[in-house]
Amino acid sequence: MTDTTKTLCPYCGVGCGLEVSPPAQLGKAINRDGQGDPIWKVKGDRNHPSSQGMVCVKGATIAEAIDKNRLRYPMLRDSLDEPFRRVSWDEAYECIVHRIQSVCATQGADAVCMYGSGQMQTEDYYVAQKLLKGCLGTNNFDSNSRLCMSSAVAGYVQSLGADGPPCCYEDLDLTDCAFIIGSNAAECHPIVFNRLQKHHKKNHNVVKMIVVDPRRTPTAEVADLHLAIHPGTDIDLLNGIAHLLLRWGYFESEFVSECTANFPAFAEVIPHYPPEVVAKRCGIAVEDLETAARYWGTSKRVLSLWSMGVNQSTEGTAKVRSIINLHLMTGQIGKPGCGPFSLTGQPNAMGGREVGGLCNLLPGYRHVQNAQDRAEVEQFWGVPAGRISPHWGRTAWEMITGLETGDVGLLWIVATNPAVSLPDIKRTQAALLRSPFTVYQDAYYPTETAAYAHLLLPAAQWGEKTGTMTNSERVVTLCKAFRPPVGEAKPDWEIVAEVGRRLGFADKFPFTNSAEVFAEYVQLTRDRSCDMTGISHAKLAQSPLQWPCPDTWANNNSKRLYTDLRFATPDGRARFSAYHSKGLAEPPNSEYPFVLTNGRLYGHWHTQTRTGRIEKIQQMHPQPFIEIHPRDAAKLEIQEHDLVEVRSRRGKAQFPAKVTKAISPGTLFVPMHWGALWGDETEANALTHPECDPDSHQPELKACAVQLSLV
Ligand code: SF4
Repeated sequence: MTDTTKTLCPYCGVGCGLEVSPPAQLGKAINRDGQGDPIWKVKGDRNHPSSQGMVCVKGATIAEAIDKNRLRYPMLRDSLDEPFRRVSWDEAYECIVHRIQSVCATQGADAVCMYGSGQMQTEDYYVAQKLLKGCLGTNNFDSNSRLCMSSAVAGYVQSLGADGPPCCYEDLDLTDCAFIIGSNAAECHPIVFNRLQKHHKKNHNVVKMIVVDPRRTPTAEVADLHLAIHPGTDIDLLNGIAHLLLRWGYFESEFVSECTANFPAFAEVIPHYPPEVVAKRCGIAVEDLETAARYWGTSKRVLSLWSMGVNQSTEGTAKVRSIINLHLMTGQIGKPGCGPFSLTGQPNAMGGREVGGLCNLLPGYRHVQNAQDRAEVEQFWGVPAGRISPHWGRTAWEMITGLETGDVGLLWIVATNPAVSLPDIKRTQAALLRSPFTVYQDAYYPTETAAYAHLLLPAAQWGEKTGTMTNSERVVTLCKAFRPPVGEAKPDWEIVAEVGRRLGFADKFPFTNSAEVFAEYVQLTRDRSCDMTGISHAKLAQSPLQWPCPDTWANNNSKRLYTDLRFATPDGRARFSAYHSKGLAEPPNSEYPFVLTNGRLYGHWHTQTRTGRIEKIQQMHPQPFIEIHPRDAAKLEIQEHDLVEVRSRRGKAQFPAKVTKAISPGTLFVPMHWGALWGDETEANALTHPECDPDSHQPELKACAVQLSLV
């Protein structure tokens, strides 16, 4: 392959288009690992509709990690204290097939679990759903989207009737008030934020930006109003804004009466949130709360943007729905420049949701608890009626507790690093040690999770396989291969399909390429809200496409959802919700007086499997740190760069101190990217807890109570 290839950045959910040129055109370009391997040249794709040629440092340097620390061959060991030995693919397949059959025979199919990732392409996800849910009859497929966006999913479904962000990136250019809550978009979704910031700067007298975050992040730095609320008071704030909007008459009564339901329940809750009470609970000035409500009320187009700061919470679904309440009461939805818009964390968490890649979902935004949904999928897959379980499978965290109890007999992990990213990491690691058999399918080696695996399967990665991904604005892009996989690595979907064939389901996995997988999958989206029947690999080779995109439409016309103000609920009305604030699952007390929060840095991605190998990014972020407010630092006699120890009820970690007013007093911040491979006791998740939201089952990774001391 010698021509420039169009593809997609495989990091965050912004989904920037890339163009990759072969190294031969670059003369002396040398990979920085010193191996002398040539670097593929990467630049932004000016014709990609979502990014118009822009990329951040992660996208720009992605090619530098493509050859480093790769898992090249299948490797097997009988127990975790033995070294791995190289095996053939045939031996690897026979091993996993034998193990699955044995676990199904002795413990039942519900003892088999697969834990996947928003890094998987849609085709990978689809084949895995068909094997687990359709062939084996267990819903035990969950992905790391459970840690990322599942509260947004639950919130959209409960309030609007279906998942799927209603907005598009063009709304960033059209809004007159951006309400950013629980998102450091400047670092975590930089290309989206750059676009918004440009619009804000150009129209500074009319366009407002509100940022709600306990940290003064680079996002908050450029806002007109920064509300540094106490962690866990988001619903107080949102209900407090609603209170003032109602009091001041910023209320679209016609929209509410014609297009929504359940307003009376919401109206009963709101009087409990007067400004004086809310300001005190949130730790902000009444005037600032009033300014926020005034910006909301006087703006014609309010665009809410949120991410993990909202979703990773024991009341994440309630927070999402409380954001949506504000849009419903002001009629700010289904129109250009406004609406609730979740910023997806991972490159294909959206595609994973569409294809049913969570333990409560089926392809085409169907739900395992819905009998008609199950019957439709069973019929399409040609499996016996009743094969798909009517119950939720195990969530990510329930797979860990299932290892503890012995109810999980086989764990198959794909493209994620749970030995760093799950909450309460020492408990997670202890559970992984107890796993009877763990298959770890990944592009990279070593990783922290590889230490807990019995069988390693080498996966082809970005640039080595062709498949699709959907970004935050519902744009589907074809990510084309531009080089063969390293060693004996294979695309994830091919590996899973071959296991399916060897388990006796050959007729269910006839695919010879990923285009065929996609063509089968999109038929399951027909007449669903995420209809993609008009999309194929061949069409995507011409240009990315946004869903809904039925094959009956002459033109793609899907910028925004709900433009007819009919929602995806049975009666077409959006639902108000009525929530009181419950606060944090683990509030601070005299023994653990600080709230620890965590997040991403601009250059790094997740657990550094890729970015930790890129010199430029390592130089930007060489080590973790802990942000401490000067007042708290003075009380504990902590100076800048002092090594401090943080302890929670579950574990401890040590970080150099960064004394800064960017963090609120009483709150601490650490980045979440460092796992055991990078040094002792720098794991943020040694401190976090696994308490989950009751609807989305998303853990409250964003806040736990800790104590702090000098080492
Ligand atoms: Fe990649 Fe996200 Fe950066 Fe775009 S903003 S280049 S998708 S990491």
